[in-house]
Amino acid sequence: MAALLTKSNFMSGLQCLKKLWLEVQEPHQATALSPAQQRIIDQGEEVGHYARQHFPNGQLIVGNGNEALQATQDAIAPGVSCLFEAAFSFDGLFVRCDILQKTSAGTWELIEVKSSSKVKDEHQWDLALQKYVLIGVGLSIGATKLMHINTQTCCFPDLADLFVIADITEEVDRLLPEVPKQLEQFRATLTENLEPTLTIGNHCTSPNPCPFTQACWQHVPEVSIFTIPRLDWKKKDMLLAQGVLAIADLPLNYALSGNQRTYVDSVLTNQPVIDKAAIATSLAELEYPIHFFDFEAQNPAIPRFDGLKPYEQFSFQYSCHVLQSDGSIEHHEYLHTDQSDPRPSLVAALTTDIASIGSIVVYHKSFEASLLRKLGGDFPEHTSKLAAIANRLWDLEDIFKYHYKHPSFRGSTSIKNVLPILVSNLSYKSQTIQRGDQAQAVWEEMLICLDEAKRTQMINDLKAYCQLDTLAMVEIYKFLLKMLEN
Ligand code: SF4
Repeated sequence: MAALLTKSNFMSGLQCLKKLWLEVQEPHQATALSPAQQRIIDQGEEVGHYARQHFPNGQLIVGNGNEALQATQDAIAPGVSCLFEAAFSFDGLFVRCDILQKTSAGTWELIEVKSSSKVKDEHQWDLALQKYVLIGVGLSIGATKLMHINTQTCCFPDLADLFVIADITEEVDRLLPEVPKQLEQFRATLTENLEPTLTIGNHCTSPNPCPFTQACWQHVPEVSIFTIPRLDWKKKDMLLAQGVLAIADLPLNYALSGNQRTYVDSVLTNQPVIDKAAIATSLAELEYPIHFFDFEAQNPAIPRFDGLKPYEQFSFQYSCHVLQSDGSIEHHEYLHTDQSDPRPSLVAALTTDIASIGSIVVYHKSFEASLLRKLGGDFPEHTSKLAAIANRLWDLEDIFKYHYKHPSFRGSTSIKNVLPILVSNLSYKSQTIQRGDQAQAVWEEMLICLDEAKRTQMINDLKAYCQLDTLAMVEIYKFLLKMLEN
């Protein structure tokens, strides 16, 4: 007997037929989940568990496959009123339902829990598939609802309104007749011996990042049309349809914005485009002591500290290099290492480490500015100090947005792309943690780690990562000064 298709297979098929085929026929080709992706999954599970607390009569169906199917039937028979993770199978499909609740009218209300902040198209399909199966097994389904995170009014410590329950019965019912048609197409695809020849595109990352990109994107050259800043997907799709992947193959006089044209020309001539006068004017704004500053922050779906909303950022770490006019450098840092609220001690350290004079250089100013303003709002005794710090922020990224383009930045202004080109002896590649989302995942893991040696290693890795962010800014600043001298 052919294996049952799961909800996850169905959703993959909607995203890309090739993804479905690979997932079923050649799952070994999938890239393993990164710690950051695993954290998103873990967070989704945590949200699911939390949602169940709103249904005190719910009975959890445990086990997998046939065991779960049987347990569901056993629970429904005696007249249970609410089930979590109920399992059903129909028409070659296997689904688990987050919450299934009996109404006074005798029908079942189907509720899917998502950790997103709004209803998305894929949620409607998710529920349409479940409803198709439930109707198929003979259940009478009333409303279909999506229970998602309320980012508008919910605020810790009051989590009573953490969720919004949106009735999307109409949208789901509109999709219902499409489910068997989609299934027919998916099954036809799965009978093929060879993987479908589908082109890459926006669907490789949306609605979910595909784990098969390594194989599908291997023919994409390093300097491709995908590196052109802010080139929209309509244009990319049209270029792909014409077989244009490399920037060198762009049609002559292809319509681009000024910024895009500057990048493409720098790639074609393999020459950086540098406005030294503008860079000199910008750098002249800086005053000693120059602080090079960077936050690491977390944004959990379920807030855990006073005054925070779901997904609202709070900082747990910073690094600050301070460059004096005589060339000497000091380093300050803060990392919160236990499960208490990091903000009070972080603010105390921060307002000590940052002098009341001098510039504060950051990379991507809006991030640090919003965290400082939020901290100022949450801790009124520090509001004016933190506002003064926020007002002194100076954005190094602007140099690379407006005045310094290099073909090897690959169309990005990220410090991760800029650093290795300008300062070859410093690199994120040598770090255990190489990205902000990895730092978030490691910080969460460190907080609950009971193995002291492992925990110490994670603390060191976190410090090394954040320290590199600010050291990178120091070295880029020095590089720019040297370039202007020459
Ligand atoms: S990488 Fe893109 S084309 Fe390849 S299977 Fe995934 S979604 Fe489909």
